[in-house]
Amino acid sequence: MKQLIIIGGGAAGFFLASNVKSSKWKIKILEQAKNPLQKLKISGGGRCNLTHACFSAKKLVKYYPRGSKELISVFNHFQPSDTFEWFSQKGVDLKIESDHRVFPQSDSSQTIIDTFLQETQKNNIEINYNSKVINIKNINNKFEIATTENKFFADALVIATGSSQKMWDIIHHQLGHNIIKPVPSLFTFLCSDKLLSNLQGISFPEAEIHIPSLKIKEFGPILITHWGLSGPAVLKLSSWSARELFKLDYKFILRINWISETFDRVREELFIEKIKNSKKSIYALKIYNLTQRFWNNLLYSLQIKDKKLADLSKKDINKIAEALTNTQLQINGKNTHKDEFVTAGGVDLKEIDFRTMQSKLIPNLYFAGEVLNIDALTGGFNFQACWSEAYIISQYINSN
Ligand SMILES: Cc1cc2nc3c(=O)[nH]c(=O)nc-3n(C[C@H](O)[C@H](O)[C@H](O)COP(=O)(O)OP(=O)(O)OC[C@H]3O[C@@H](n4cnc5c(N)ncnc54)[C@H](O)[C@@H]3O)c2cc1C
Repeated sequence: MKQLIIIGGGAAGFFLASNVKSSKWKIKILEQAKNPLQKLKISGGGRCNLTHACFSAKKLVKYYPRGSKELISVFNHFQPSDTFEWFSQKGVDLKIESDHRVFPQSDSSQTIIDTFLQETQKNNIEINYNSKVINIKNINNKFEIATTENKFFADALVIATGSSQKMWDIIHHQLGHNIIKPVPSLFTFLCSDKLLSNLQGISFPEAEIHIPSLKIKEFGPILITHWGLSGPAVLKLSSWSARELFKLDYKFILRINWISETFDRVREELFIEKIKNSKKSIYALKIYNLTQRFWNNLLYSLQIKDKKLADLSKKDINKIAEALTNTQLQINGKNTHKDEFVTAGGVDLKEIDFRTMQSKLIPNLYFAGEVLNIDALTGGFNFQACWSEAYIISQYINSN
């Protein structure tokens, strides 16, 4: 029997091991931790957002700032509809939420962990915990793998070690693969501007955010937090511009159109209000569903005193329209988005054959998951890439 070793007992490693069913292979997972699937356990706030209800490979790849071109063929083999089918065959009911994220009905990541543990047990997979790999030698396209305690030999090797810098060093120095410099992705923005003070929890469903120095824009909901800004539009921007923002050391000017309206339309609206409600105080004005707390802060930051709408000058109106459609904030850093974060960077995709996920440099060496230079927006896409890549390897191993 041939020996397959999977380094990394995370999402990709376990999905692969759950799908390898071959009498020709003995399979072993080497996992450095004392428990499996630790990241999956805390994923999606403990609920595990395991895929996204998007069933076209062409549409799906648009959610991957890195890897979209390569993933087309991968998703043509195994995509979210297959993920649904796979879990339903294992007796796991899934549910689609209104934003198309998919979770187990149980709302618990433990359901997914239990499923993988059952499947790997059925497939007689040997799982070695507390087995940290510290060296890999390629000996004529077979592998000698050293952990802190033992040595193992493999006819085929899968590296599924997620975002481990030490493993990237081994992959580069021992196996000769190019590693695209890893940088964080999916983070929120730190901002200490007074405009945001005491506004945590307030969201803007249709905002437009813009980084002029990078000429990039994003639309969608944003949320004021106690450290700055979060929400889907911020996370999307952090993902698409992960490398550029790293180069800026996460210090940049962000422009926000809180309501996705034009300056001229807002100005017109304010002039109409001035005529219609001339006796009303500017502080009591209700426009664009803005919360009172935000409106107060905005007027305060513009140093517009509490006056009647009738007394608003043209300059005041221009200032308010400008602030609503083009607030300029200094971002001073990034903060972790607790529900999901990933690393952009990893094994260079040019060196991978995506028909099998095999290294183009070393036969019998495979990669899956975050170890590759593939990452996605938040919403279940990162796990979907793991499932699809691991599935492809499993099918190739099963047929060889
Ligand atoms: C807080 C958080 C929440 C998230 N939520 C979601 C979500 O809801 N949906 C989603 O799609 N994505 C989510 N993600 C991203 C997702 O978790 C990752 O994309 C995914 O886990 C990557 O899987 P992987 O198998 O490549 O790596 P991992 O799951 O990180 O597994 C790698 C494994 O390799 C082991 N390992 C590393 N080095 C060695 C070594 N030298 N020797 C032996 N073992 C080693 C590690 O201990 C680990 O168990 C989240 C991420 C975080 C941090």
